[in-house]
Amino acid sequence: MYGWGVNGGGSGIGRAVCQRLASEGAAVVVADLNREAALETVDALQAPRGQGHMAAHVDVSSKDSVNRLITLIQTRYFQPPSVCVNAAGITQDDFLLSLEEEQFDKVIQVNLKGTFLVTQAVAQALVTCGAAKGSIINVGSIVGKVGNIGQVNYSASKAGVEGLTRTAAKELSRFGIRCNCVLPGFITTPMTDKVPDKVLSKLLTLVPLGRMGEPAEVADVCAFLASDDSRYITGTSVEVTGGLFMG
Ligand code: NAP
Repeated sequence: MYGWGVNGGGSGIGRAVCQRLASEGAAVVVADLNREAALETVDALQAPRGQGHMAAHVDVSSKDSVNRLITLIQTRYFQPPSVCVNAAGITQDDFLLSLEEEQFDKVIQVNLKGTFLVTQAVAQALVTCGAAKGSIINVGSIVGKVGNIGQVNYSASKAGVEGLTRTAAKELSRFGIRCNCVLPGFITTPMTDKVPDKVLSKLLTLVPLGRMGEPAEVADVCAFLASDDSRYITGTSVEVTGGLFMG
């Protein structure tokens, strides 16, 4: 099995996914905008049974960069990744009334277009090589469902990721490829480190489980969606939110 934690290098959720997949014996391709950070993740992974892990640079918002990565993976492992976790993501928060067009475009390019480019490239490679099955897991956000003040660009991108995933699931099921989303709530990572404490503590009052989530708790769900234990699940979104906004 090959796991692919796109944002593994940047710590956070992608790195936790890489750690979890590696602990199950997967050879993990850790790709990130920051190759140094990806290398740090690889250095910390358990040695796999079989072939080793790999760190790589990718800018998910660039088709050329994504295609180069797929070529690199196929050259090294002679096959595309059977599991792909799209965890790269950014925020550029501001209120609707003042958000700049560039901030809107940038977040859409990385979060939504990036998910499209990687999903398409991996699916094309899997179909071309005649793989019997694959699992693509896209990291959306609960904010894509419920909205969040100051995140009109981010919430739109994450709502798009869910729509993309459901459509991909319908189109790719005949090739044995499953596509699902995980929707984290508030998880302790460098991304949420940017949120002011005052805002976070207010949001935490809305979480029935009463705390932030850990990256490993999202990774556990990704591992389930990657595995055959979820073989009859496609086109769905699993909320990992501690109960935030349930119902
Ligand atoms: P994070 O720690 O900031 O990780 C994001 C990673 O994505 C970083 O390593 C970053 O690299 C990388 N990245 C950014 N732009 C990229 C690009 N164009 N190409 C490739 N990699 C790129 O954030 P996180 O919290 O783990 O977030 C992971 C995913 O979960 C994101 O999709 C995020 O939207 C989603 N999510 C997070 C939360 C949360 O509470 N943390 C909640 C809901 C959803 P650099 O460091 O080099 O920029």
